[in-house]
Amino acid sequence: MIDTTTALELVLLHGSMSTKVLEVDLKDGLDYVLAKDVISEIDMPPFRQSAMDGYALHIGDDVTYSMVGEVKAGDNNNPTLHKGEAVRIFTGAPVPVTANTVVMQEKVTVDGNKISIEESPKENTNIRLQGEQIKVGGVAINKGTTIKGVHIGFLASLGVTKITVCEKPSIAIVVTGNELVSPGDKLSYGEIYESNGAMLTAVLKELGYKNTSVVTIKDDYDKTKKVLKDTLGKHDVVIVTGGVSVGDYDFVGKAINAIGVQEIFYKVKQKPGKPLFFGKKEGTSIFGLPGNPAAALSCFYIYVYPLLKKYEGAEHMNLPAISLPLLFDYTVKGTQAQFLKARIEGAGVTILGGQSSAMVRAFGDANALVCLPRNSAEIKKGQNVKTILLPTK
Ligand code: AMP
Ligand code: MG
Repeated sequence: MIDTTTALELVLLHGSMSTKVLEVDLKDGLDYVLAKDVISEIDMPPFRQSAMDGYALHIGDDVTYSMVGEVKAGDNNNPTLHKGEAVRIFTGAPVPVTANTVVMQEKVTVDGNKISIEESPKENTNIRLQGEQIKVGGVAINKGTTIKGVHIGFLASLGVTKITVCEKPSIAIVVTGNELVSPGDKLSYGEIYESNGAMLTAVLKELGYKNTSVVTIKDDYDKTKKVLKDTLGKHDVVIVTGGVSVGDYDFVGKAINAIGVQEIFYKVKQKPGKPLFFGKKEGTSIFGLPGNPAAALSCFYIYVYPLLKKYEGAEHMNLPAISLPLLFDYTVKGTQAQFLKARIEGAGVTILGGQSSAMVRAFGDANALVCLPRNSAEIKKGQNVKTILLPTK
């Protein structure tokens, strides 16, 4: 059995990488990882822009100026200002070349065609300088960045219409168990509703991975072998849930071996998710997650998520982690490293109730996972703990 740090290192060392890049329309770029830097083809702003509604002028000794024109947003006139002259100007309008400041209208008294200013303005006040956000040829967004809405906005402001991104993995979710029944069907004694497939599909979708499919198999060795063999050849990442433990009807490990998957590790010193399996065959990475839904989801965030990010060449692979003080004492059950559903509130973090691997309910209230090292025993209120931030919901 290996520890959690080694397990994650091995996933990132052996996990598959995207082999293709593609060009997508900027509007379709959400959640893709950039495969190359985006270089700006323009200065932003493209010209000296007024940042206020007010008056553009060239600072002199005067406190009174005559108004000689107007420039509003979108205008392309460029009035020449002589000593003692000003133009009315509005936010976003090009500042005349001969002006060196914009006085906001709240600081000006208007009397017919004349304006008086209260105090002598400073040069370049209320002017957005040409290229102050980015200059032509500058790197707008670095390769490896996961594109979010704000990036799409920024790139659109630079006139970008297409971006080059890494192909996303095709992901298969294979759920195993004789007891599983699809929601909508009648539940007989001994059966439970299958929920890992729906949950992982939805969580992947939230993260921008839409190329997913779910296969359900019974606890049957030959069937498991056949389905896994078939699935491995068609996908980049395969996530199996259930059947990875040591029970007489857990066939995943045996089937994986039989079809020639290289085992990278099996079993991690952690709770939940002790029977975690990771292996690879040709270009496909395969995870065996525990069947218990909450354990499967914890393992997904800790191990599968970083691999998906690695696959796409993302700069940041793990979910972000910070150190926060516990808001209440917590007694650790057992000696294993722990991943505990938790909620960040204010400046601290609370470990939630309902930590059982079978109870996914507490994940609904969680916005973080607290990670405790082995043999943590008693954690006191105020003690700092490593807190992984779950993707925002
Ligand atoms: P296993 O890892 O196959 O031993 O399963 C552990 C527990 O998780 C058992 O109580 C299973 O019934 C449950 N379980 C396994 N797969 C699923 C699933 N897809 N949806 C809901 N519960 C599951
Ligand atoms: Mg099972």
